[in-house]
Amino acid sequence: MTARLIDGKALAAEIRQQVAADVQAIKAMNRPVRLAAVIVGSSPAARVYADNQARTFAQAGVDYQLHELPEDITQAQLDAILANLAKDASVTGIMVHLPLPAQLNTQQTQYNIDILKDVEGVNPANIGNVLYGHPIIAPCTALAAVALIDTTGIALQGAEVTVVGASRIAGRPAALLLTERGATVTVCHIHTRDLAAHTRRAEILVVAVGKPGLITRHHVQPGAVVIDIGINRITATDTHGKAISKTVGDVDFAAVAEIASWITPVPGGVGPVTVAMLLKNTVRAARLVHGLDQPF
Ligand code: NAP
Repeated sequence: MTARLIDGKALAAEIRQQVAADVQAIKAMNRPVRLAAVIVGSSPAARVYADNQARTFAQAGVDYQLHELPEDITQAQLDAILANLAKDASVTGIMVHLPLPAQLNTQQTQYNIDILKDVEGVNPANIGNVLYGHPIIAPCTALAAVALIDTTGIALQGAEVTVVGASRIAGRPAALLLTERGATVTVCHIHTRDLAAHTRRAEILVVAVGKPGLITRHHVQPGAVVIDIGINRITATDTHGKAISKTVGDVDFAAVAEIASWITPVPGGVGPVTVAMLLKNTVRAARLVHGLDQPF
C-alpha cells in the first residue's frame, strides 16, 4: 500500500471534544441542548440504532429524547408531532429516523422538520441553502467528506473532483459543498456512460453509491485522494476459509490503496466523522435556536 490513510476516527474524536466543550458552554448559560429523535415503528434494528445514538449524544452532554411512534401513524399525526417539537422551546434539535413506513411521505416529513432544529440538514430548504452557498445546517455526510479531504492539506480550489453517486442526502450535497469551495466538480450517477473516463480525471474522488467493488484500480488516477462514503455488508471468507460478514465501502480498497495518495478506510473513515458532524450540527442548531448564532 502506498496511499496514506485518512483517519476518520481521529478526526471524529477531535470534533467530538470540541462539541462537548461547546455543549457545556451553552448549558452554562442555563440553556438546553436537547435532541428529539423520532422513530416510527419499533424494529429491533431501529431500537439498537437509537440506543447507540442515545449513548453517543449522552457522551457529548446532549440530552436525548426518543419519540417512538406506532407503525400505523398517519402523516397528519406525524406532522402534528413535528409541529409540536418545532414549538417546544426545550427542544433544540430534531431528527427523524429513516426509512418510514409506506403510508408516510419522506419528503413531506422532512419539510416539516423545523429548519433551525434540523440537525441532519435534510429539510429541502436546508439543502437549498447549501446550493445558495449559505448553509444554515448542511447534511452530515457531505460535511464529513469535505472535512476528511481538508485533513490531507490538498487545496480544493481549482481541484478536479469527481463525485460518484447523486443522492439528495450524500452525493449531491457533497458536490455542492465542493463546488462552493472552488473545486471543478463532475457528478456521476447510474446513467453515466463511461464512469472510468470521469473518475480517472479526478484528483479527488468521492464515492457514495452503495455497491461494493464499484471503484477498481482502473477507475483511479495514480496519486488521487479517494473518499469512500459507501457502507456495505458483505459475506467474505477468513484466513481459515470460514464465511464471515464484514463491512466494506464502494472502493476496492486493497487495489486502490496501491496507487492513491490518500484513502479513507471503511470502516473508520467517513462513518465516524458523519456521526461527529451530526453532533456538531446539534450544537449549531442549539446556538441558532437560542439566538447565539444567526442563520446567515
Ligand atoms: P442512494 O440514495 O441509493 O444513492 C446512490 C446513488 O448512486 C444514486 O445517485 C445512484 O444513481 C448512484 N448509482 C447507482 N449505481 C451507480 C453506478 N453503477 N455508477 C454510478 N452511480 C451509481 O444511496 P445513498 O443514501 O446516497 O448512500 C450511498 C452509500 O453511502 C450507501 O452505501 C450508504 O450506506 C452510504 N452512506 C454512508 C454514510 C456514512 O456515514 N458513511 C452516510 C450516508 C450514506 P441514480 O440516482 O441515478 O439511481
